[in-house]
Amino acid sequence: MDLRKTKTLCPYCGVGCGLEVSEVTKNGQPTLKVMGDRQHPSSLGKVCVKGATIAEALDRDRLLYPMFRRSLSEKFQRISWDEAFDLIVNRIQAVKASHGVDGIAMYGSGQLQTEDYYTAQKLLKGCLGTNNFDANSRLCMASAAVGYTQSLGADGPPACYEDLELTDCAFIIGSNTAECHPIVFNRLREHLKRSKAKLIVVDPRCTKTAEVADLHLAIKPGTDIDLLNGIAHLLLKWGKIDTLFIDECTNGFSKYAMLIQSYTPEMVARRCGIRIDHLEQAAEYWAKAESVLSLWSMGMNQSSEGTAKVRTLINLHLMTGDIGRPGSGPFSLTGQPNAMGGREAGGLSHLLPGYRTVKNPAHRAFIEQAWQLPPNSIAPLPGRDAWAMIEGLEAGEVGLFWVVATNPAVSMPDLERTKAALLKSPFTICQDAYYPTETTNYAHLLLPALQWGEKTGTMTNSERIVTYCPQFRDRPGEAWADWEIFAEVGRRLGFQQQFRAVSSAEIYAEFTQLTGDRPCNMTGLSHQRLAAEGPIQWPCPAEENPIEVTPDNRGLLQKLLHQEEPLKGKRLYTDRRFHTADGRAKFAAYHSRGLAEPPNTEYPFVLTIGRLYGHWHTMTRTGRIEKIRKLHPNPFLEIHPRDAARLGITAGELVEVRSPRGMARFPALITKNITPGTVFAPMHWGALWGENTEANALSHAATCPDSLQPELKACAVQLCKVELAPGRSPSLATEAIISV
Ligand code: SF4
Repeated sequence: MDLRKTKTLCPYCGVGCGLEVSEVTKNGQPTLKVMGDRQHPSSLGKVCVKGATIAEALDRDRLLYPMFRRSLSEKFQRISWDEAFDLIVNRIQAVKASHGVDGIAMYGSGQLQTEDYYTAQKLLKGCLGTNNFDANSRLCMASAAVGYTQSLGADGPPACYEDLELTDCAFIIGSNTAECHPIVFNRLREHLKRSKAKLIVVDPRCTKTAEVADLHLAIKPGTDIDLLNGIAHLLLKWGKIDTLFIDECTNGFSKYAMLIQSYTPEMVARRCGIRIDHLEQAAEYWAKAESVLSLWSMGMNQSSEGTAKVRTLINLHLMTGDIGRPGSGPFSLTGQPNAMGGREAGGLSHLLPGYRTVKNPAHRAFIEQAWQLPPNSIAPLPGRDAWAMIEGLEAGEVGLFWVVATNPAVSMPDLERTKAALLKSPFTICQDAYYPTETTNYAHLLLPALQWGEKTGTMTNSERIVTYCPQFRDRPGEAWADWEIFAEVGRRLGFQQQFRAVSSAEIYAEFTQLTGDRPCNMTGLSHQRLAAEGPIQWPCPAEENPIEVTPDNRGLLQKLLHQEEPLKGKRLYTDRRFHTADGRAKFAAYHSRGLAEPPNTEYPFVLTIGRLYGHWHTMTRTGRIEKIRKLHPNPFLEIHPRDAARLGITAGELVEVRSPRGMARFPALITKNITPGTVFAPMHWGALWGENTEANALSHAATCPDSLQPELKACAVQLCKVELAPGRSPSLATEAIISV
């Protein structure tokens, strides 16, 4: 394949940095050289260690051929694609007969390209008639998507990265942006150095992000809503609210204003475990700023009250009018490179392409017609979400579990229960680029998939910028693109008409034409245009008319925006009209319910889990990159010195962490960066990379009732130190345990 300088996107996180890939000769061997793309509007040439080292994992442990085994106790045997497709089609027909069509479930990934996502929706929701497609985005940002939809009438982060450089005050809550979205943080950090803008960080840990904050609020886990309502209380008391915006553009303020009356600084400080003057300082920063940009990720979303948290944060923007203006807005940072594209293509069990929902009869009818399917082909109720798929396996209601580009045997909550459910699966397909992964242990059929650089498609990043990602490497072995696999299954099931497309460009064209008149209008985008012009942000209607400003709304807009002319493009809601029925955003009045599993006498600590700078999720790629393994050789448990002293734990000593569900062992990292009573462990290490180092062995599966996102961020645990036999390494120890 001819590889000169190819522009593409980093396939790791939702920042969506542009990369430039070229082939160089190193030690006489052709090697891929990866650099930041200076022309990419999101990253301006910057990359972190993950993007810079991506090429090193491309040829390690690849799954090259379809492989099959009848039972999990047998060894895999190589089979042909023809045999693999026969197995899939026969299994689909058998499960339809034995369980009904809802016995089929596919669990996908934000690693997929939009074309893959779209084709899977057509196969599952359209042709088969089950809405049992969900993705690991459910574990990542479902609460943000539902929060936006409920408050603003539609999903889609309203802000853009340029706001990082325009804001007067950045409010980061539940996000270690410096490590998990490093290039976003770099842009913000540069702005903070150059300006008088303030940074507030809310996190129980003093992370790399919190270290550079003007104000760090180390709240107790689960008290986010108390804090946000407390800030709102002060803003209201001080009259620092935008009454014109509230009156003209929102509903529900009076109920919310009543609720926040009771959130006195004394009460909030006590509940959150922070100082009153720090709470007041946060409110004062917010009050004095011309523009406030809030940023969040899993710390808010992975909660049994995730949607309520997101909506409570959006309330602050609505009461101050900090939305749709430069430097302002509630900005959810997505985890995966194409979590956004997945949402756009309908890649969760309640969605259809173009931010449509399966519950809406008009939406179903529109998509059925577009897919040339008979009326009522699409089921009217949401399918199984991620955890409901595990419950379906437990109950024997799922007869075919199809896992695509993800690793639930590490990333799901309550891992022992997850693994037991996977063991019960009558037939699991694992479609992945890599082998082995922890989940391939539970598979019957392995399908080799193409990955980054081996197929052509698009991805959307956190700021709604769509980047064209072309193929620039040859296909390894017999691997296929994910969309090709779905389409071939569809054709073999008799849906030739629905799967006529022979290129991802055709699929993308079909998908974007379904987004007209939708908030995520992408009818102006095509592979050809993205390849020629570079990354483009949506909304991008075909007629190129991003913001509607009429003589009727111009005066009001100018007042609301405090500026001469309303801005165009880039950010959403610059016209101060929202995607609700009456165009008004909605306040939501929530009291905090706290953690689903608060600490108690038996399990007195709160365990919070998170990511490290270098590793990506379950290490399927980064575990195979030498430089990153050296950067983060082992997991660890952060524990406050006071707690460590009380338990007699010294630095580096192996600690066993137990929850009501399972246990894991980590060497102690004693640090004041964590608040007493809370401990932290990274979530990356699965069974392939360590012994008893799975943080999710401890987590529970309680979910947010609205977003169905599990509360991966917090569970109650007890700590015991482990006594090592001589010569044993703390990271590998399985020796006697001394309870303390
Ligand atoms: Fe890739 Fe995210 Fe790093 Fe950018 S910040 S290089 S998108 S991992």
